[in-house]
Amino acid sequence: MMHTRFLALLATVLLASCTQAPPEQQIVNDAAAALGGAERIFAVRTLVIEGDGTQYNLGQDVTPEAHGQTFAITDLKQAIDVAGSRMRVEMTRRPNFAYFQGPQPQRQVNGIDGQVGYNVAPNGAATRVPDGVATERRIGILHHPITAVGAARNAMAQLANLRTEANESLVDVTTANGVAFTLAIDVVTKLPTRVISRVDNTNLGDVALETSFADYQDAGGLQSPTRLTVKVDDFTTAEYRVAKQTIDGDTGDLAAPSDAVKASSPPPPTVAVEEIARGIWYLAGGSHHSVLVEFGDHLTLIEAPQNDARALAVVARARELRPGKPLTELVNSHHHFDHSGGIRAAVAEGLTVITHQGNVALFESMAKRPHTVVPDALAKGPKPAMIKGIGQDTTLSDSAMTMQLLPYSGPHSETMLIAYFPRERLLVEADVYNPGGQVFMFAGPFLEEVKKRNLRIDRVVPLHAKVAPYAQFVKDASLPVPTATN
Ligand SMILES: [Zn+2]
Repeated sequence: MMHTRFLALLATVLLASCTQAPPEQQIVNDAAAALGGAERIFAVRTLVIEGDGTQYNLGQDVTPEAHGQTFAITDLKQAIDVAGSRMRVEMTRRPNFAYFQGPQPQRQVNGIDGQVGYNVAPNGAATRVPDGVATERRIGILHHPITAVGAARNAMAQLANLRTEANESLVDVTTANGVAFTLAIDVVTKLPTRVISRVDNTNLGDVALETSFADYQDAGGLQSPTRLTVKVDDFTTAEYRVAKQTIDGDTGDLAAPSDAVKASSPPPPTVAVEEIARGIWYLAGGSHHSVLVEFGDHLTLIEAPQNDARALAVVARARELRPGKPLTELVNSHHHFDHSGGIRAAVAEGLTVITHQGNVALFESMAKRPHTVVPDALAKGPKPAMIKGIGQDTTLSDSAMTMQLLPYSGPHSETMLIAYFPRERLLVEADVYNPGGQVFMFAGPFLEEVKKRNLRIDRVVPLHAKVAPYAQFVKDASLPVPTATN
């Protein structure tokens, strides 16, 4: 009897050692088993997750350090076609702060279908998103334990770099489709704790996009998390609570809308030039504008927005306008990522950046951060950044031009500069008054600031929308702003 049991044990040990998976594979196998088994995971066709949560406002809060602005998320529905690599996310967002579109809830619909990433506006119009955004959404499909472990367990996946840190085992996965991520599992429960991907952020460069998982519950025979937290580096960008999760339920139509499929990736930026006063040009043509200012012996640009493509096009156009004078400086209106996305391009072009002193540390860090995922102009041609902070009213003046840079702390941003041209009676501002809009959340307080400072203005020159006469600004600023409703 003893003898038989010993042989059986020996056989088991031998069998285990013959079929023992490499340690990286063992981690993935353990995770699959903890979730409910590889067979069950492979059989999953669709995953529908419904719930609510909170999103934070990375790069768009009132100061670079602030993180108090949030959107309450309701009616969240994430539908994933696992085999088809398609996903659509729908949600309602309601800001808890003075948001430029007003406090009313906004419905958001976005998706990814193969190579095509798209957004659907509340009126049903679909637009294609840039390829970088589409890439991040494809990665997003894998930021769930079931999809991540399914992809890692695939025979074509490559696994490497097993390590243990604190209570987690981590393994680097490259999927059969070539998508790379790190899978972390709990050393005790073997359930996935996190999926981490390295992605590009225009402003921050290489960042870790991480989704962590908690509060697992049964969903159709699989363990699935009901609390998901998303981070970009150390900044929490979203927290979601899952109320219902359905495996192989109805996802609805996940095909990209035809308008988005037909659209090509964005065309090169156009820069439309308008001389709005002697020596002052409006450089428009996109959603974010710039202003070029001619001094006696140099040129100064106001705003390098969005990204390399936009900022470099604006810089090139500015140099064409006055080829005899060097473009030496960039004035930045405020730190918001859509208005500072071209700061690195400006540094690469050798410009000294002038900004509110509250943004200096952020911009110095932005100029130094690695951009290897998507190398930009500064990554390809590194240069030291020259960032000058302004903490009080500053006049830049010579025989040809006088420009005052005025710090402005308002409800949209507390680290903002506005540019005032006393002779031309022009005021250049970003975001606090967008003429032609429906809602003017910040125009009232901004008009108060203008009056307090006794600025004499004929026209407001906004870095969005169109130049507006002062009378129109006063009229729009007096309109009542919408208040939150339930
Ligand atoms: Zn802004």
